[in-house]
Amino acid sequence: MDQAGRDIERAAELIFQSQRIVVFTGAGVSTESGIPDFRSPGGIWTTFEPEDFTIQRFLSSPETRIKIWTLGRAFKFQQAFPNAAHHAIVDIEKMGKLSAVITQNIDNLHQRAGNRPTLVVELHGNMQEVVCTSCRALWSWEQVEQRVLAGEGDPRCKQCGGILKPNAVFFGEPLPVHAFMKAHEKSCRCDLFVVIGSSLVVYPAAEMPRYAKSNGAKLMIINLSDTDQDYLADMSIKGSAGEVMPRIINAVEKRMKSAVESHLTSL
Ligand code: NAD
Repeated sequence: MDQAGRDIERAAELIFQSQRIVVFTGAGVSTESGIPDFRSPGGIWTTFEPEDFTIQRFLSSPETRIKIWTLGRAFKFQQAFPNAAHHAIVDIEKMGKLSAVITQNIDNLHQRAGNRPTLVVELHGNMQEVVCTSCRALWSWEQVEQRVLAGEGDPRCKQCGGILKPNAVFFGEPLPVHAFMKAHEKSCRCDLFVVIGSSLVVYPAAEMPRYAKSNGAKLMIINLSDTDQDYLADMSIKGSAGEVMPRIINAVEKRMKSAVESHLTSL
């Protein structure tokens, strides 16, 4: 067996032995669904400026808002489908081992793959929704997109005339308190913390693996490139999530099957 095969077996053993797994995802889990990440070559930052996503600029600049509504469509959130990595995370839930999926993503793909929505903790909001920054009324992305496509560059709230904003967390905005507290609690109580597709450079989200590790959990990182916390990890696999995750799940399922068989023969 080569090193890659041994890594898969080791990852499977860790999942097999664990009961309360937290999966923590970043943009890299969705690149194979056709949604670009921020920092990879060809990612969002190669086309757009980070300042466009600061709340200060968004609220003060109609040009930026028009650009964001256009960018929102370019992200292709609506047309994207969950990939093999999202489905593998659903398999962990079906095994009864998933405590939570903590995601930095705003694409709704974990829910669409079939993870129970109550298990998905969205640290950075969700682009499916649009919120009024004045009266907090909520609209669906489709409702607002129709207005943008019909020619309203900078659509306003139909209830109060306030500025509309995608219901994702912009730079300079606090994280949703409830989501942060739930993510913190789940991270502190898990026995295995699995990072998939995150560079672990965006804080405070990137504190979560540290909370898990300092409370005794094992840390596994699956990412195409190096991350800021590889040095903390019990194991790290460099590879594409859509290819690696199904192989790991397959190996876990084999272990579960043989555990059931040996239990039955011992009766
Ligand atoms: P990031 O861009 O900083 O890092 C993504 C990481 O994923 C990179 O290290 C890259 O090497 C890795 N990666 C890319 N494709 C991969 C694949 N197929 N398999 C495994 N790894 C892969 O993203 P981040 O850490 O999530 O942080 C950036 C912010 O980006 C987050 O706050 C998030 O809200 C936002 N974001 C979200 C989406 C989305 O919802 N899909 C898309 C772009 C950005």
